[in-house]
Amino acid sequence: MAGEDEGEVKAKNIETVNNILAIVWEDGHESYFDFETLRRACPCAMCKGETNVMVEYKPPPQKLTPASFELRSWQYVGGYAIQPQWGDGHASGILSFQYLRDLDPDAPRK
Ligand SMILES: [Zn+2]
Repeated sequence: MAGEDEGEVKAKNIETVNNILAIVWEDGHESYFDFETLRRACPCAMCKGETNVMVEYKPPPQKLTPASFELRSWQYVGGYAIQPQWGDGHASGILSFQYLRDLDPDAPRK
């Protein structure tokens, strides 16, 4: 009996406290990410580059300022991810719940 959501990581509740993004997962585990960690983990092409068969694109080093680590707001994306908007205007990173879960070394693995 395989539900379509089987194996997916889901966040039950997400909130920000000071400079921490706190996630309560469906299995009850809680993860805390400070904004700087989150920003440095931004998986978008601009931050991390894109690799395909033909070309490897490496982005230039980013100028990160204190504003870069201010989380202005964030929104849910398609029920599987969040998209943060940062103080320096950067908002192209989409962090899936799976990605965030993997970012937490203490999270139980499925
Ligand atoms: Zn990015």
